Amino acid sequence: MKAMVLNEICSLRENKRPLKMVDLPIPVPGENEILVKVSACGVCHTELDEIEGRTPPPEFPVVLGHQVVGKVEKVGGKVRKHKIGDRVGIAWIFSACRKCSFCLEGNENLCEDFKATGRDANGGYAEYTTVPEDFAHKIPSSFSAVEAAPLLCAGAIGYRSLRLTGIRDGKTLGLTGFGASAHLVIQMARHQFPNSGVFVFARSEGERQFAKELGAVWAGDTEEKSPERLNCIIDTTPAWKPVVEALKNLKSGGRLVINAIRKEDRDKDYLLRLDYPKHLWLEKEIKSVANVASKDVSEFLDLASEIPIKPEVQKFTLQDANKALVELKERKVRGAKVIMFEMT
Ligand SMILES: [Zn+2]
Ligand SMILES: [Zn+2]
Repeated sequence: MKAMVLNEICSLRENKRPLKMVDLPIPVPGENEILVKVSACGVCHTELDEIEGRTPPPEFPVVLGHQVVGKVEKVGGKVRKHKIGDRVGIAWIFSACRKCSFCLEGNENLCEDFKATGRDANGGYAEYTTVPEDFAHKIPSSFSAVEAAPLLCAGAIGYRSLRLTGIRDGKTLGLTGFGASAHLVIQMARHQFPNSGVFVFARSEGERQFAKELGAVWAGDTEEKSPERLNCIIDTTPAWKPVVEALKNLKSGGRLVINAIRKEDRDKDYLLRLDYPKHLWLEKEIKSVANVASKDVSEFLDLASEIPIKPEVQKFTLQDANKALVELKERKVRGAKVIMFEMT
């Protein structure tokens, strides 16, 4: 099968073609696993973190990609939940122990044995991949493969982030950064919390305009003051400046949820501007969101189908995966980038 593999950590600024096209044997599913013929795979900012070593894969070569939609091609001997021909999705959570206290309470994302698709196991930048059956999700029929792929990471983690803000209807929500995740969060927020105003902070005029099209009541630059202080804010940027700037816009007792697997060090000195009375005092909270649990993925897919959420996508071929990654690095983003394997 054709696969784009990462052989080593490198800087995307120096190496614009970090992934190499290779031919690999089609993987064989274990007894609790399914073999999936990949139809589409979303391109995520986390791939940049893997390539550049902020969340390095433990072994090389590795096939990246954790927003995988495809059809079940083969099933292991003990598989009960899926059958050949079913359409499934695979998200960032590849497996967890299913026995520890985190797993038992539905937070497998915090399990010490958490394994990530496309980092700890081969992912979807390939024609085929395998996954334990418990971590494959049914895709609602209302979505095409290319529409469903970006929902599996950006959408599912956005769903978890929104849940972790503790928002209730009528409370205000801020979003810093308006990329793949935030443009989905605004749609679910407007559906689940119709009386909550959404305020967006984004660097580019294009992103701000896009936010307004999707129903933001206000959109401004990262360091701007929002017209009112906000109950909660979700940060989806790789930088530190938006964190500091967001804190000043929080109400007393407000919560900032950071939805980023790693932050880049480039503007880390911005944290020195942190002013305790202005940014943290009066019981403001900061919480990170880590990965996704299985139920975040399945609950979000159902919600997305009900709303319905149709992500805006930009399609690439497998050969062009490097191009998609470089564009993401250079923040040429409007909606979500998806690698297509077939025209569905
Ligand atoms: Zn992702
Ligand atoms: Zn566990």
